[in-house]
Amino acid sequence: MGKTKVVIVGASHGGHQSILELLSRYGDRVDITLFEAGDYVSFMSCGMELYLEDQVTDVNDVRNFRPEDFPQPNVSIKNNHVVKAINSDVKTVTVTSTSDGKTEDYPYDKLILSSGVTPHSLPVPGTDLENVYLMRGYDWATKIKAKLEDPDVKHIAVVGAGYIGIEAAEAARKAGKEVTILDVIDRPLGTYLDSELTDIIEAHLKEKGVKVITNAQIVEFSGNGAVKAIKTSTEEIKTDLVIQAAGVTANTEWLKGTVDLDGRGWIKTNEYLQTNIPDVYAVGDATLAYSIPARRKIPIALATVARREARYVVKHLFEKTPEKPFGGVVGSSALSVFDYHFATSGLNSFTAKRADVLVRSSFYQDTLRPKYVPEENGNPEVSIQLFYDPFTHLILGGAILSTYDVTAQGNVIALAIENHLTLENLAEADFFFQPGFDRQWSLLNLAAQNALGEEPFVE
Ligand code: FAD
Repeated sequence: MGKTKVVIVGASHGGHQSILELLSRYGDRVDITLFEAGDYVSFMSCGMELYLEDQVTDVNDVRNFRPEDFPQPNVSIKNNHVVKAINSDVKTVTVTSTSDGKTEDYPYDKLILSSGVTPHSLPVPGTDLENVYLMRGYDWATKIKAKLEDPDVKHIAVVGAGYIGIEAAEAARKAGKEVTILDVIDRPLGTYLDSELTDIIEAHLKEKGVKVITNAQIVEFSGNGAVKAIKTSTEEIKTDLVIQAAGVTANTEWLKGTVDLDGRGWIKTNEYLQTNIPDVYAVGDATLAYSIPARRKIPIALATVARREARYVVKHLFEKTPEKPFGGVVGSSALSVFDYHFATSGLNSFTAKRADVLVRSSFYQDTLRPKYVPEENGNPEVSIQLFYDPFTHLILGGAILSTYDVTAQGNVIALAIENHLTLENLAEADFFFQPGFDRQWSLLNLAAQNALGEEPFVE
């Protein structure tokens, strides 16, 4: 019997994980062809801030894989190849090479779409001016880096105070620039964290010299040739460079009329991550992810999600109806904002409301270690937020923040959510105690006890 031809679209997290799983599960029984539209194979945008801050060996190391990492004769990585169409009746894809302009059809038995997203510009005049940038992928990373190193660039304005915008602002500030970050909503990181935590972060950003403008209605980027200012409905901010990190569009235009998309262009998949076309699957940012705490599909654009989905798809590639649907994801992430580190998992007030899930939240602050350890000896404050079902007490989300690196505790919250634990479970979970690290009760125990209205633990 011939080999199964598997075609993958997109050389990022989803595409990379698909190759790894295919090789490990099916070895040389599959023939793998991966098409990547770009020239550079698999830049890891997650590592972009580290690159911008000179913390990596080399920009060319900030990637998921190099084509030469897969020397197997049954793997072919084709960069500069844009997949233009799926011809489902004959099971081929039409692909154009951007190097020589040639268009060819390639057959597939199984097709995995991991075409991701592209950041988009604001719908305002002036986005075509010079020095108005976006932030994703190798090309933008190297262009931003050059500007950070350019002494003529004194002011940088970042549009969008989500994760990516915050990373841009911090890297720019550390490079010695005057930095302004703007967001249309009322606080930075407002879609990731509730205000108890964003208040701490916003104050810290200001302390570090970042100007934070919230509720910003941007009306124009202005300049003569190159951008010189951002105009909002109330003010004008002088700038030499704009980095836009304010939203993405799914790379699915080419699928219209073939693969079912939702109103915003996300690829529709069923519970087995299959599209409407037989033998065509979709993973990663171009799709909505099944959220365990929301119990529905919501946008969760994370590398972790793309990889888990690719693993599931490949594992069940040869089952018409897999035994089990994809189990879903919690959606966990972590970030440093100058001296603070936080991790967040599952839902928060914003995402719960958007997903129409009723949550109650609780907020707990305490010292990391027993009170007899002075703050200057490594006993900073830790803030914890928990989100839970008000009736069943099921934990649906949580976040933890401190100047000490407590981010690993975010994974404990993730596990609690994934395994449907309640506040009562977390209040009593048996975690270690050692005063070099924590309290007689772990802070997560205490946060859950606090959410249950128990008397505070007094040493
Ligand atoms: P993408 O990464 O979007 O890649 C899609 C690929 O498909 C692209 O290379 C594109 O060129 C190619 N493509 C598209 N259309 C075609 C076509 N028609 N033909 C051929 N090729 C095509 N996530 C985390 O979990 N942790 C982090 O710390 C983190 N940090 C981030 C920092 C930044 C600055 C950014 C931008 C993102 C970050 N993310 C992080 C998110 C993470 O990068 C994405 O969730 C992940 O890359 C999604 O992978 P994907 O495979 O779905 O698609």
